[in-house]
Amino acid sequence: MASTASQPSERLSLAIIGGGIAGLTLTIALITHCPSLSITLYESASAFGEIGAGVGFEPVMVRTMRLIDPRIAAAFEKCAQGNTVTDPPKWFTVRVGDRRKIVDGDNVEDGVVLEKAGKEKRKVRLGEEVFSIPARRGPRGGVHRAHFLDELVKLVPDGIARFRKKLVDVTEAQAGSGDAILHFADGSTAQHSAVLGCDGIKARTRSIVLGDSDSVVPVFSGKYAYRGLIPMSKAVEIMGDVQPKTPQMYLGYHGHVLTFPIANGTIMNGTIVPSPCSLVHIDLFPVVAFSSRETWPEPNWVVKTSTADMLEDYKHWSPTVQSIMTNMKSPDIWALFNHRPASTYFSTKPLICLVGDAAHATTPHQGAGAGMCVEDVHILSELLSQCHSKADLTRAFRAYDAVRRPRSQKLVDTSREAAMLWEFEGEGIGDDLEALERNAVKRMEWIWDHVIDEDLTRARKMMEEES
Ligand SMILES: Cc1cc2nc3c(=O)[nH]c(=O)nc-3n(C[C@H](O)[C@H](O)[C@H](O)COP(=O)(O)OP(=O)(O)OC[C@H]3O[C@@H](n4cnc5c(N)ncnc54)[C@H](O)[C@@H]3O)c2cc1C
Repeated sequence: MASTASQPSERLSLAIIGGGIAGLTLTIALITHCPSLSITLYESASAFGEIGAGVGFEPVMVRTMRLIDPRIAAAFEKCAQGNTVTDPPKWFTVRVGDRRKIVDGDNVEDGVVLEKAGKEKRKVRLGEEVFSIPARRGPRGGVHRAHFLDELVKLVPDGIARFRKKLVDVTEAQAGSGDAILHFADGSTAQHSAVLGCDGIKARTRSIVLGDSDSVVPVFSGKYAYRGLIPMSKAVEIMGDVQPKTPQMYLGYHGHVLTFPIANGTIMNGTIVPSPCSLVHIDLFPVVAFSSRETWPEPNWVVKTSTADMLEDYKHWSPTVQSIMTNMKSPDIWALFNHRPASTYFSTKPLICLVGDAAHATTPHQGAGAGMCVEDVHILSELLSQCHSKADLTRAFRAYDAVRRPRSQKLVDTSREAAMLWEFEGEGIGDDLEALERNAVKRMEWIWDHVIDEDLTRARKMMEEES
């Protein structure tokens, strides 16, 4: 425990708003590391739940889960069982899926998209591997969100979570206690020393911390995604035995298509039905196909679509990609929004700190948004373990903000750039496949090779120096 100048007289009570990946891992972290703090988790839904979709974590993030609590990493590994492991590990195998990229040859079967110079001159045809993006060694891969969340929920003791509690406002308590009064949609209130806002991209806590700044409102990224599932047997029919077992990325003009196997689940009515994580049962084949448009005027960010509409977007693509799209069950469209940079992640009157997507919602093009939630939680929970007063909380929030804001906001920016790269829009790169490869194989280094404990040491030092 660090030396502090605080008065250890108050029993601090913290309210966590939102029970997604950020809120649940933070709850587990604080219960594990901060027995002197009182923790309550408020969730607007009637139960913990997640959308039927996959989420991927790389070894750097799984290591951070282990630092928070080895049971979180174990939960991930349990849900990731059944992922195909390749040696060396690959993030994606990259192919061209858009026949407008054919530079030589008349028909799609023979169409060459790249002539690689060098000792052994190689012609790369449409749909063939152009290059692969190596991943780091260690536990990694995709899990079904609902499975992972179920495992996390098991680590939260009874009595911590309150459901159907939609936060609508936070005000300062009267009488100079410095406490926060939380106001819920059902008319009830609660009093806590501070609020940890884990309420996602549309966070109410974000609007309270940032006021009427234009960084409160999420902005449309210019990209949307068709999401759906196809049975594994169909995927094998279309892509052969090998490709469906590892992540594939098909590049094109203003669009790209990702396919990955995901462990543990079965398809029913076009959605993934969770099966117990201990069962390894791969017959899911999620497809995420990205496309571009300038604006998103609809109020809903997830809307139903039809196969015909999807095929219209991919009318210039290869038969393989078109066949994947034709076989997607109950596809829907997700509009992809992100936050503009926040000027701060915390406020002092009342004490509120933003965590996860509430602080830095990003597009998914580098697969690290949830990983950033995990990093936030590691740093914040370690700093909070040194807090015995509201003055300590302020210092902890300030140190957290200083180390987490630059890194997490860099993800938002570089993720937008990544979408442009995968869609032949990269600045100075466009559809030059060799330049694209040079960029792609290096662009994740700052995320994947990060040493989080150096950040923690820096943050702890800041906290101590301020005391
Ligand atoms: C298409 C897509 C693919 C992605 N793929 C990846 C990936 O492969 N890897 C990766 O690392 N990241 C990925 N991400 C990002 C990742 O999903 C998010 O960063 C992460 O899930 C955010 O978690 P969170 O807990 O901060 O927010 P959320 O999951 O949004 O949770 C917020 C919670 O707060 C609750 N809530 C909201 N408002 C209130 C309120 N007023 N009062 C009380 N409760 C409230 C909600 O009900 C919810 O339970 C992807 C994102 C998208 C959109």
